[in-house]
Amino acid sequence: MKTIKILHMYSNILDLYGDSGNMEVLKYRSKMRNIDCEIEYHSLGTENTDFSKYDLIYLGGGADFEQQLLGDDLQKCKNDIISAYKNGTFLLLICGGYQLMGQYYLDSNKENIPGLGLFDYHTVASSDKGKRCIGNIVVEAELNGKKTKVIGFENHGGQTMNITKPFGKVLFGNGNSFNDSTEGYFEENVIATYLHGPLLSKNPDVADYIIEYCANRNQQDKITLAPLNDELENKCREVMFDRLLK
Ligand code: GLN
Repeated sequence: MKTIKILHMYSNILDLYGDSGNMEVLKYRSKMRNIDCEIEYHSLGTENTDFSKYDLIYLGGGADFEQQLLGDDLQKCKNDIISAYKNGTFLLLICGGYQLMGQYYLDSNKENIPGLGLFDYHTVASSDKGKRCIGNIVVEAELNGKKTKVIGFENHGGQTMNITKPFGKVLFGNGNSFNDSTEGYFEENVIATYLHGPLLSKNPDVADYIIEYCANRNQQDKITLAPLNDELENKCREVMFDRLLK
């Protein structure tokens, strides 16, 4: 049986709006294709994590306080995470996790949280603490040459700037900053986004893109995932698209 190895970082700290549900979706949709998902954890105080053995590293979202809390521990992992990313490990980064992989996050108390500097973008919290990007959001992304609408819920004070390769074009909602036209950051092995939901329960195409990438990584014989019955998911999506885009 094929196995996908996942490292879920700070699962007990970064779990806004049930972001850990993304792991449940990956497990379920992999299992339906006879692929096993092995999930291991790194949190504050975990010693000797071997970042090189994972196909996917996952960080969810959190409030500024939580991001401050794990800042030092994350910096200790910097070189290992950079090597894993350069070696093709997939990075799935939601909201707070997304911000922390950039240059820095200047939070709502004007405290600087250094990022790991994997990417060029940086984030500055809105000067008015009461003003945040909150609400449903729909983004048009392109995965393996196929356009797909990605739906979720955003809640961030941070305004992310200097994005070279966005995840998608905003069709409804704010995106990287207030009334932005772009959302998130994307590379073949990186999806960094403000979308909670959890993201993958609302967007089966995104989940399958990640599973297929991880399953085919370092493999001679590439697989194509058999489609699943997503009738219910699609009905839910249509309700939201009707509500938000018409
Ligand atoms: N604390 C960050 C912000 O407010 C990230 C929030 C989040 O992860 N939802 O921008």
